[in-house]
Amino acid sequence: MKLKIAVQKSGRLYEDSIKLLKECGIDISNGVNKLKSEASNFPLEVFFLRDDDIPQYVEDAVADIGFVGENVVYEKKKKVDVVEKLGFGKCRLSIAVGKGDVYTGVNFLQGKRIATSYPVLVQDFLDKNGVTADIHEISGSVEIAPGIGLAEAICDLVSSGSTLFMNGLKETETILQSQCVLIKNQQLAVPLQEILNKLLFRIQSVKKAKNNKYILLNAPNDKLDEIIGLLPGMKSPTVLPLAEKGWSSVHSVLSESEFWHIIEKLKEAGAQGILVVPIEKMII
Ligand code: ATP
Ligand code: ZN
Repeated sequence: MKLKIAVQKSGRLYEDSIKLLKECGIDISNGVNKLKSEASNFPLEVFFLRDDDIPQYVEDAVADIGFVGENVVYEKKKKVDVVEKLGFGKCRLSIAVGKGDVYTGVNFLQGKRIATSYPVLVQDFLDKNGVTADIHEISGSVEIAPGIGLAEAICDLVSSGSTLFMNGLKETETILQSQCVLIKNQQLAVPLQEILNKLLFRIQSVKKAKNNKYILLNAPNDKLDEIIGLLPGMKSPTVLPLAEKGWSSVHSVLSESEFWHIIEKLKEAGAQGILVVPIEKMII
């Protein structure tokens, strides 16, 4: 039995999706211009599709699972479960208005025309804020709508904001923070769920490894206790004596979020020769 996964055929999610599967040790032959591919060393069949179609295929069990942006999942409102955030494809769905407009709050949108490819999410946002506006659904190049007189505001995906800026717009509200997620069919058969559990275990190990660094440092023995006290580590750190008397080598794992803060403290406490190494997989 094979688990069928839907990934974007080409576009912003394609490369990171394939990369994540590779990092999970899953080899798939290059799928560009192909609809389907099989992993050689894992019970996985890969379907390459337009991202917009992935929630429907997963609801219908044409694919058992899929990698797709949260923006698409919540816009399409299909009956699928979001299982895991994948940490790539990060962007936000935002409202933007003309650079010169005086934006005083959501009420600015009352009675205005909003161009978007996300009518469902925009309507939800307007309803929540008690605002009535006229939503114009367009499928692409939303950012040019105000310039050609189609709308007074837009709602579109943003990452840096440079596209908005170049089109004379400014971002005023974020209605959704999005990233690529793993979705699954709600009636997955037990053997398929077991394969998914194996895949999830690998994905989580890859994600943890990315969020952590391996650190090695030299510490004078009289400062060891203080230095060890600064290191969280998976268990306690590894401490090895150095050839030079009175010194030890200390090895540990640090998470990205606390990394710089702890490095500064380690230096202050007398640590020297600090080496930081990426971790490939982290199995806990
Ligand atoms: P398809 O041909 O598969 O329909 P598309 O043109 O709809 O592709 P892409 O532009 O490749 O889609 O974007 C795919 C997904 O990438 C988006 O739905 C979103 O989740 C994510 N994404 C991340 N950053 C951005 C960004 N700056 N702009 C647009 N999408 C982004
Ligand atoms: Zn699309």
